[in-house]
Amino acid sequence: MGRALIIGAGGVAGVVIHKCCQNSEVFEEICIASRTKSKCDKFKAELEGKTKTKITTAQVDADNVPELVALMKEYKPDICINVALPYQDLHIMDACLECKVDYVDTANYEPEDTAKFEYSWQWAYRERFEKAGITALLGSGFDPGVTGVFCAYAQKHYFDEINYIDILDCNGGDHGYPFATNFNPEINIREVSAKGSYIQDGKWVETEPMEIKRVYNFDEVGEKDMYLLHHEELESLALNIKGIKRIRFFMTFGQSYLTHLKCLENVGMTSIEPIDFEGKKIVPLQFLKAVLPDPASLGPRTKGKTNIGCICQGKKDGKDVKYYVYNVCDHQECYKEVGSQAISYTTGVPAMIGAMMVMTGKWKKPGVYNIEEFDPDPFMEALNKLGLPWKENFDPVLVD
Ligand code: NDP
Repeated sequence: MGRALIIGAGGVAGVVIHKCCQNSEVFEEICIASRTKSKCDKFKAELEGKTKTKITTAQVDADNVPELVALMKEYKPDICINVALPYQDLHIMDACLECKVDYVDTANYEPEDTAKFEYSWQWAYRERFEKAGITALLGSGFDPGVTGVFCAYAQKHYFDEINYIDILDCNGGDHGYPFATNFNPEINIREVSAKGSYIQDGKWVETEPMEIKRVYNFDEVGEKDMYLLHHEELESLALNIKGIKRIRFFMTFGQSYLTHLKCLENVGMTSIEPIDFEGKKIVPLQFLKAVLPDPASLGPRTKGKTNIGCICQGKKDGKDVKYYVYNVCDHQECYKEVGSQAISYTTGVPAMIGAMMVMTGKWKKPGVYNIEEFDPDPFMEALNKLGLPWKENFDPVLVD
């Protein structure tokens, strides 16, 4: 069918690459391009000969638009799958515009010097993408990503209006380290050390970091502490799902993770303000990232399961309806299949499916869209077939 340019060669990219190679009829050719070319070459060496997909690699600085444009003009991809970091989103979108290439990412743009997640920067590209006749699919990971598709599916099939959504993200995995993050440490720590927030009656309500705690008993994982966080999909779902009165996001954390994080925060290691060190400016959080285990190395050590899903409450034909849809994913199974733990897997599989939706024309529509704006049915079907099957519960325990 076509050609994908994959930008980034980290944990999530590894899964995207494996899954594209498992679906060669859609991804006939891929180019893996990242800052460190040796990481791209490693994936190529691992997969070549085991797949029909033709793999090439390239070095690119995705913060450099002319470099990206030169690569796209040479490779002529049908789609660009951005699994580098959120800082690169706008640069990659600029290059896609110039070369008329469809675009998919898994996390919204964030300026490097302020930990602030919002869609405004990317939504500002809507008209330009429409005029160029190309599609940008934003947030096609798990959360954001599958969680948005779950909500769109609930809206389409089971509700006239959804009034309450709670997104529950549980990682019951254990990697055996006292402290490590399951995806890029810098992005992860920026996310969890920020203030929490949720949307109530059309307004953001802010909380202190980790202020709101609940306990939930997750299917196939068991009882876990979870904390309310700000999360980017709240912003788009509150606009795109009909009837929302309140939408919240909870993530589970173990006590050891929280104690370490507090300590690192207290000593200033999570700060993104540059400091002078031996005549050089360094960002403490970037230094911390350098000393923590690489998330891509957690695969072989991580045991247990993730359970991520959405609890929706609302009305259908005047009656109250409750609906919980979720996926359970086993870290060790993921490792066996693609050599990564479940956090990278649950992000990489939907990134590949999102690209597949656009490439096969099912979700091809000029403009910039959040994932819940498309028909959820083909994506839900693909999740079941391609590694992330989901379960439904029409009488779930609710979160108070
Ligand atoms: P990693 O840090 O493992 O990988 C990031 C990759 O991007 C690295 O290969 C890195 O290169 C490359 N990169 C960084 N800067 C540049 C640049 N300027 N030019 C070219 N390449 C660059 O991160 P993850 O794989 O864990 O995460 C990837 C993305 O997925 C992130 O945006 C993250 O926020 C998102 N994510 C989304 C989730 C969801 O559910 N929606 C969940 C988890 C993650 P190098 O190898 O040289 O460092």
